[in-house]
Amino acid sequence: MKFGTKAIHAGVEPDPSTGAIMTPIYQTSTYVQASPGDHKGYEYSRTQNPTRDALQKNIAALENARHGLCFASGLASIDAIIKLFKPGDEIIAANDLYGGTYRLFTKIFSKYGLKFHFINMENVQDIEKYINGNTKLLWIETPTNPMMNIIDIRGASDIAKKHGLLLGVDNTFATPYLQTPLDLGADIVMHSVTKYLAGHSDVVMGALALNDDQLAADLAFIQNSSGATPGPQDSFLTLRGIKTLHLRMQRHTENGQAIAGYLQDHPKVDKLYWPGLSSHPNHAIAKEQMKDFGGMISFTLKGNDKEEAFRVMESFRYFSLAESLGGVESLVNHPATMTHASIPYEERQKIGLLDSLIRLSVGIEDVEDLIEDLKQAIN
Ligand SMILES: *Cc1c(COP(=O)(O)O)cnc(C)c1O
Repeated sequence: MKFGTKAIHAGVEPDPSTGAIMTPIYQTSTYVQASPGDHKGYEYSRTQNPTRDALQKNIAALENARHGLCFASGLASIDAIIKLFKPGDEIIAANDLYGGTYRLFTKIFSKYGLKFHFINMENVQDIEKYINGNTKLLWIETPTNPMMNIIDIRGASDIAKKHGLLLGVDNTFATPYLQTPLDLGADIVMHSVTKYLAGHSDVVMGALALNDDQLAADLAFIQNSSGATPGPQDSFLTLRGIKTLHLRMQRHTENGQAIAGYLQDHPKVDKLYWPGLSSHPNHAIAKEQMKDFGGMISFTLKGNDKEEAFRVMESFRYFSLAESLGGVESLVNHPATMTHASIPYEERQKIGLLDSLIRLSVGIEDVEDLIEDLKQAIN
């Protein structure tokens, strides 16, 4: 099955009792048993729910995975992965991560004796210096948020395999339409489903996709034991959203390309971060591991003036100033004060996350209107 067909059909069967083509919202907490222990595979909705099951199968199919697991948020899905480990274990993570992931690692899990190293992974060989007998996991995002760095997934996977580590990839920005990390050797793919997969800014959810049966059983055990599972209504909305994932991603990418082209020539724009630019330092890897380059773009203004960046962001008509990304509507965000405020100022400077950095989530509106909007807001 090709991608668009999977987006619409994978995991989804007509409802056995009515033939309803859409998976019903099984809004139930429990299931009646004929006699104790004699049930139809469903006991309690934290453990199993048919609407969630359909979605988990669908997401697994999109990522070319055997198993899918959904969680109440993207962070809850990362939380489940880290609960595989025990005090003393070490995790090597990229140094340009979603702010909430950094906060989860440093403020929550560090307290439980896990050790995190945050390093630049643009050259994957640099990872090996930090590996020791306690290292268990490499954790990467690519493209990274918000600097749009690209990490070589296959290169990271070779290192993980050589040292017996797991490789986890946050695939939120790329989506399985643009990149399937398991095919490049990753062990676990994670999504903030909240973003492109659900795609309509109306759901908060997370997901994991993976192939290894034992690892999937361990993560399902954590999913049920910790209990951060999504409800059936959100599972339904996400299944519905995913049916157009391929069409939305095509348009996000086309619009992203047109806008990157516009900003590239703009006299007030200083640095422009989009992996589709041939000047992007990791463009060659992006080209190899991604099908296209997506609709996430970051840029700084000449002079690096925070007030001017604020003025620009307040002047947009169609780009709404908001956290989050990946919805049909265009959004603009100021990472230093919004999504990445939990990263200390010095750390932000080190990775180029300056105070004038503006991040765009380019939506699927008509791109002429979006470019007009950028023109009037920047000027
Ligand atoms: C939003 C986001 C997360 C966190 O997901 P939630 O659904 O908000 O919990 C993790 N990683 C990336 C790249 C994100 O954009």
